[in-house]
Amino acid sequence: MSDAPVMEVCSHCEQPLKKWRSPPFNYSDGLGFGSDFLLVCFNDDCPIYVNGWNTMFDRYGRIGSMRFWRNPRDNDSGVLPVAHKDAMRGDIEE
Ligand SMILES: [Zn+2]
Repeated sequence: MSDAPVMEVCSHCEQPLKKWRSPPFNYSDGLGFGSDFLLVCFNDDCPIYVNGWNTMFDRYGRIGSMRFWRNPRDNDSGVLPVAHKDAMRGDIEE
């Protein structure tokens, strides 16, 4: 455990990341994200999110976009697919 302040910014748009409660994903290895929450960029102007609409449609033929996330515990990061603008917002903790 670290008591470093949780004030990280998105590496794509430099807006503060929000603490987001990760749902209880059950991967086959049973580990999930290994963290109770992730730091997620909810900035609607984030290039990941803005460009995600095209990427999702071109690659997967579906409407949706992506949000950038970082795992504060192991510094892993990636993107989560979102179906619409307000997806996942209900689980923002701060
Ligand atoms: Zn961002």
